[in-house]
Amino acid sequence: MKKGVPVSPGVAVARAFCVDEVLARREAAHLEVAAVTGEIQRFEDAVSAAAGELDAIVERVAGQLGEEEAAIFRAHRLLLRDPALVGKVKSIILHRQVDAGTALHDTLEEYTALFARIPDEYLQERMADIRDVIGRILAQLALRDRPPVLPTTEPVILVAPEILPSQALSLMARPSRCKSPECPGKEPAPASMQVAGIITEAGGATGHAAILARSLGIPAVSGMRGILREVRTGDLIALDGREGHVYLNPGPEVEAAYRKLQREYVALCDSLIENRDLEPVTRDGERIELLANVNSPADAAMAVRAGASGVGLYRTEYLFLTHPTVPCEDEQLSAYREVIEAAPNHRVTIRTLDLGGDKQVPYFGHQREANPFMGWRSIRLSTAYPDFFRTQLRAILRASRFGQVSLLFPMVSTLEEVHRLKRMVQRTRRELQREGEVLARPIPLGVMLEVPAAALCVNDLLGEVDFVSIGSNDLIQYLMAADRDNPKVAHLCEPFSPALMRLLSQILKTCNARNKPVTLCGEMAGRPRCFLPLFGMGLRRLSMSPAFVPSMKEMIHRLTVEVGREVAERVVQMSTVGEIRGYLTRKVKQLWPDVSLLDMTR
Ligand code: PEP
Ligand code: MG
Repeated sequence: MKKGVPVSPGVAVARAFCVDEVLARREAAHLEVAAVTGEIQRFEDAVSAAAGELDAIVERVAGQLGEEEAAIFRAHRLLLRDPALVGKVKSIILHRQVDAGTALHDTLEEYTALFARIPDEYLQERMADIRDVIGRILAQLALRDRPPVLPTTEPVILVAPEILPSQALSLMARPSRCKSPECPGKEPAPASMQVAGIITEAGGATGHAAILARSLGIPAVSGMRGILREVRTGDLIALDGREGHVYLNPGPEVEAAYRKLQREYVALCDSLIENRDLEPVTRDGERIELLANVNSPADAAMAVRAGASGVGLYRTEYLFLTHPTVPCEDEQLSAYREVIEAAPNHRVTIRTLDLGGDKQVPYFGHQREANPFMGWRSIRLSTAYPDFFRTQLRAILRASRFGQVSLLFPMVSTLEEVHRLKRMVQRTRRELQREGEVLARPIPLGVMLEVPAAALCVNDLLGEVDFVSIGSNDLIQYLMAADRDNPKVAHLCEPFSPALMRLLSQILKTCNARNKPVTLCGEMAGRPRCFLPLFGMGLRRLSMSPAFVPSMKEMIHRLTVEVGREVAERVVQMSTVGEIRGYLTRKVKQLWPDVSLLDMTR
């Protein structure tokens, strides 16, 4: 048995499917003489497609961000047609009679060796551009190849070095976790891929790949360094996303035990989906608002099926991460409108772009930062490109008339930032009105509490905004100085931290005293053990992956204000993670004995 970081609950037993990175070298294909011309043509077609892709990027980036930002893509465009580079690849295909992918890899290796001998640092950095351009051609070749054929039509467990946010959406089909036709997460899977579980070498419990796995209801374990050296496609794997346990080629007894757990897990999810029409009200009549976190219109539809009453967090960056170039204002408008129209009660809190960190798009350039999560990301990046950001604000304001829309700014650190953001919204609003645009009434503005400085000064921020939303994933990482994506410090990225509990208690007290709406939209929101003390501290609005709404309704039905208050009072007195976790585990189990199947044990 191997142990990683548990990141998405559930149990799966299935065959492994190892995901190669696009740049990973495959075995060379040796060609017959007659096939060489065709292979050169295939290479040329891939180059033309990559050039078309770069042309579109240059046009969009120059238009939306400026000529300076587009310069790097113009340089890549030139490099793509560089006679030395293209000539070398063709010559390798011709003389060694190998496939274009192998020729590109050989070329990349030759350049890497050559550049390593150059003492000039600036020239050495140009190697990154060559790698980028070769990667783009390889990606085009991969697109042209047939998609990977799985050894079986059964669901698989993906095993990958890491899953980037940009890959995740296209890679993962909706799982068939529950058999009920109404189950959130029950979507027809693409013919080629049904994902029963995910194992990654990198990543932590609140990294974006983990969040996506949870939102799709796929059990997952991260931080399994070196697993790809041990597992081969087709191996049997038993995976426990609650404990972070992985068994490679388990014996018959372990396999049978995990298959039984998997059946129990599926049966429990099936029964919980019956909760979707229940009101989220505690035993003594206290109402909790259950909202959903979404990335797309499909997720918003899933939120309806799960029984959420609105969308509490629409992460708009996925539109940008999956777009071939840069979405223009009208494309953004129609994407936002689609989400609003699909959402429960057409009620959506739209968060402005939260790029940077592990969510990179090429058009901001490859910024080398020592600490990307503490650097130029999120609202800092958006406001550094005012025209680009204005386009997003215009699209959101225009979309707001299609429902009840609120606007949420991520990663705010200071009051000055809030003043600036409000001025930007007002200016954009006036501009649209001058153009004759029909707008909804001024929409509520809110900020995310993710930076401890903002959390501590929440009282000041509340004077300027209509609501706040606690982004506990980032708040934990900044409070604990522990990267949420780094498995080595996963033990510190802890929702049961005494420091976090005390900080959350203060935030909730301040917001409730001022009668300002406060939502919790980090991953804690979907975990019954985390909700119990927060309910006692006064939290009444949660936003979570739609897949968790039915289980949170079940939890809420078993609670009373009295129990919550008692738990909250005890938890803020505790001084270790172990004490808090142990106490909450026992307490929730008393209220709901089956809950351990649905949550991570950590
Ligand atoms: C958070 O940080 O808790 C949050 C909801 O935002 P994200 O996970 O997208 O960073
Ligand atoms: Mg965040």
